[in-house]
Formats: sequence, C-alpha cells, structure tokens
Amino acid sequence: MQSKANNSQDPDKKPSAAQAATLKPVSDEEVKQPSDGAPAAATLGNVLEAVEELWPKTLAEDWDAVGLVTGRSSQQVTKIVMAVDPTSEVIEDAIQRGADLLITHHPLLLRGVTQVAGTSFKGEAIHRLIETGTALLTAHTNADNAIGGVNDALADAFGLKDCVPLVHSKDGLPEEGLGRVGYLDKPMKLEDFAERVYTVLPAVAGGVRVAGERSGIIRKVALCGGAGDSLFDAVRSHEADVYVTADLRHHPASEAREAANGGFPYLIDVSHFASEWVWLSAGARALQNVLNDLGHAVEIEVSQINSDPWDFVLTP
Ligand SMILES: [Zn+2]
Repeated sequence: MQSKANNSQDPDKKPSAAQAATLKPVSDEEVKQPSDGAPAAATLGNVLEAVEELWPKTLAEDWDAVGLVTGRSSQQVTKIVMAVDPTSEVIEDAIQRGADLLITHHPLLLRGVTQVAGTSFKGEAIHRLIETGTALLTAHTNADNAIGGVNDALADAFGLKDCVPLVHSKDGLPEEGLGRVGYLDKPMKLEDFAERVYTVLPAVAGGVRVAGERSGIIRKVALCGGAGDSLFDAVRSHEADVYVTADLRHHPASEAREAANGGFPYLIDVSHFASEWVWLSAGARALQNVLNDLGHAVEIEVSQINSDPWDFVLTP
C-alpha cells in the first residue's frame, strides 16, 4: 500500500482518473456490429430508447431525477460522452470533444428550481449546454439498480462471483436492486483485498480507508457504489465479511464497528466518484451494443476528468 501514501500526499498534482484504472479500449469482439445494412445516424430519441432498455426509469429511486435534462429528441447524436458528474470542467470537455450528448451519473438538477439564470454555476451549465446544442441526460439510481449497472460493474472489477442485490428493487427482477453481495474466488486477507480495491479504482487523493483486521480472512463481499451507509442492515443480514462503499460518515461507521465487536463486516471506504467511474466503460459498451443492434452508428467516449472534489490529504 506504499503507492497509496505517495499518491495521497502529493499536493502538487491532482491525480487523473486514468492513472490507476486505465480504460480498456473497446475491442471489436466486445462491440457487436450493426445488425443489418449500413449504420444510420441516431437521433436523441433513438438514444433515449436504448437508454431506457438498459437503465429503465422504473428502476430509479422515488427521490431521484433521471432522464433528459437538456436537448430535443429530434436532434442528431453522433457522439456521446459519459461521465460521473456534470461539473463545468466535464461539460466543457464534452463540448470540446464535439459531443452531442453528455450522459452523467449524477443529476445536475435534483431538487426543484425556479430559474436557471447564468448567475449560478448550474444556470451557467444549462446555458452552455443549450447554446452549444449539447444534450444532457442523467442515468443515476436507475443505472445503480440495473443489471450490468454501477454495482455489477464494481462487483466485476473486484472479481466477485454469484452476486445478488443487497436490497431488491420493488417490482424488479431478482438481479435488480441496490448494492451487491457476492464471493471472491478464494478467501483472501483483508489487506490484500483492500489493495485490489485500490488498484482497480481510479487514483484519487483520498485513497482507500479500511476498518478491520489486516490479516483477517474474507470471502463474502458486500458493496454499494456511491454513498451506501443506509445499507448496513442488509450487509449484516447477508452476513458479508466486508462492506465496500463510499462516503462512510463517522457515526454509522463507528457504530457498525462497535456492533461487529471487531469482527465482520469489515469496512472499506472509497471515493464516491471512483466507485461510480468504474461503471462508465461498461455502460458505454452496453449502450454502444444496443445502438448498434438498433442500426445506429454513434461514437461513445468515457470522460477522463477526475471530478472527485478532494485534491490532497495529510496522513500520519
Ligand atoms: Zn453517486
């Protein structure tokens, strides 16, 4: 874990998302070719259809705001950029890359607004998107809960098998729901698994925090991409050996360790951004395949912007 300390304490350089987890290029085998005839250009409406097939709105949590934020369904889409956060840096980068559509995991507008004046950063973002003809689409908890979504991508990255949701979606398929719990191929030490988690996630200033016995042997892993401290009961009822999630606050984490009396579940706290960035390449591949099946040729890129808000950390 030496590299973690070095990385975490380098105040001069904001680590890039690509540093630790370089995206695998999308190979020809992974992306199916369009089913028949020459590929046709896609409209935003066509892309919305494909998105609905992969990450249906019905899978979104009640409090969420998913779907189209800016754009007209009749506009043409030849290039899509996928990112975690609709920050101004991400939006400018998508515009510079010539994207017609930016798909972000997090919503730009989650709560009600009464204006989108360019005097606020959110209003300015809306202006930039509309003025440059760039559509914005949110795939948030619908992408978390879906098969092949954020949590499945994270489980794959960690090498888990036989995964089931920690909490099943209401009226969803058995494979759909919040978080995942599954098994490592073979038992391993907590510190070795933490090293794996650190390695597969993009490099961020905050690194990876662990609570538990370094040499404790684990096999059953629970996870939740993004903030998952509301799922402790589910983690315990599944009798997971370790729980990997983001944004673990003092009290829920402390009380979970007290309740575990030093034993399972151990905790691994990762960057919220990093835990969700892992999904982007899998999501891009899945969307590319559905669009190809529908006979549309659209280029899809994954944003390499690190939108984790933290820049450096001091550790003992
Ligand atoms: Zn999130």
